Amino acid sequence: MKAGLVYDSIYLEHDTGDHVENPRRLMATMSHLEETGTKEKLTMLSPRPASMEEIEMVHTPDYISYVKTKAEKGGGWLDPDTVMCPRSYEAALYAVGGLLAAVEAVMKGEADSAFALVRPPGHHAIHNRAMGFCIFNNVAIAAKFVLSEFNLSRVLIVDFDVHHGNGTQDAFYADPKVLYFSTHEYPFYPGTGRMDETGTGEGEGTTVNFPMAAGWGDEEYLRAFNEVLVPVAQRFQPQLILVSAGFDPHWVDHLAMMQVSITGFAQMAMILKKLAAELCQGHLVFTMEGGYNLRVLASSVKATLDVLLGNSEIDDPLGKASMERKPGGFDEHIAEIKRTHRIGG
Ligand SMILES: [Zn+2]
Repeated sequence: MKAGLVYDSIYLEHDTGDHVENPRRLMATMSHLEETGTKEKLTMLSPRPASMEEIEMVHTPDYISYVKTKAEKGGGWLDPDTVMCPRSYEAALYAVGGLLAAVEAVMKGEADSAFALVRPPGHHAIHNRAMGFCIFNNVAIAAKFVLSEFNLSRVLIVDFDVHHGNGTQDAFYADPKVLYFSTHEYPFYPGTGRMDETGTGEGEGTTVNFPMAAGWGDEEYLRAFNEVLVPVAQRFQPQLILVSAGFDPHWVDHLAMMQVSITGFAQMAMILKKLAAELCQGHLVFTMEGGYNLRVLASSVKATLDVLLGNSEIDDPLGKASMERKPGGFDEHIAEIKRTHRIGG
C-alpha cells in the first residue's frame, strides 16, 4: 500500500510561542516517524501554496486580505484563541495547499491514501473569521477543490477531533454534495454540533453530528463509527473520504475529557480504510487538526499511517484509560441518532 505524507518545514514557521498549538507538535511527530523507520516507508509529497481562487471557495476576499495584512504588520491575535506571526499567512496558504497536494496525489493514483501533516489546523475557521487555532479551513477548501477540479459529486468528511468542526459544518450545511460526519465532546467548545443539526434545504440530512458525553471512549467511538458512520456512508456513496484527524479525544490529552486510546484511533482508521476500499477505490485523505499531547500525537499519527501502510501491528505505548466510572446512556443516545438519520429498522 502506497501511503503519502505531506510535510514541510514551512509549517514550523507558524510560530505561536508557548501556545498549545505550536510547532513542537509536528517536530515531535516527524522525529517519531523517523526514529521508528515509518517515514522511509511513506511516499513523501511536497505541498504548494493554495491560490487565492482556491481559498476563496470558502473564505471571503476581505477576510483573506485581513489575514495577509495582519501578517505584514507583524501578526497578533485573530480571535481570543488564535494567534499569528509574520510567517503565519504563508504557512496557512501551504497548509491548505498541502492538503490539496495530498488530495491530488490520491485522485491521480500516485498514492493509495495520504496524510497531510500540516498546521495551522482548519476545521473551526468560518468564511469570514478565524476561530479556535484555525485560520483557513483546510478540509472544507479541499472538499470544494476536489468537487470542482476532479468533477466529483459526493465527498464525505469525517471529523473525529474532540471539538466540533463548526466551520466545516457551516461551509456545507445546505450542500448535498458533502456529507459531514462529526464525533465530538458535547457540550464543549465551540458549542455547535447537536444531533438535531442535520443540514438545511437541499443539504438536509447530509450533516451527521454524533455528540459524545465527557468520559466516553473507544467502545462508544467505535460503535458510532460502525453503527452510524458506516451506514450513512454506504447510503451516500462518497467518491472520496476526507478526514479531519484530531487526536485530542485521547485520554491523556488535557484539552478535553474523552477516553479514546491510540489503539482506538487505529481502529477508527481501519474502519475508514475499509469504507474507502468498499465505496471509493480506497480514496482516503487525512488532515491534521488538533491533538496537544506530543507523545499521544506522534504515536497516533504513526498508528494511523501504519494502518494506511497495511501494517497489522499497532504500537500503543500509553494503553487504555484506567477504568473510571463512565457516564451511562449510550444505548439510548445512539438509538436517537439512528432515528434522527433513519438508520436501520
Ligand atoms: Zn480539537
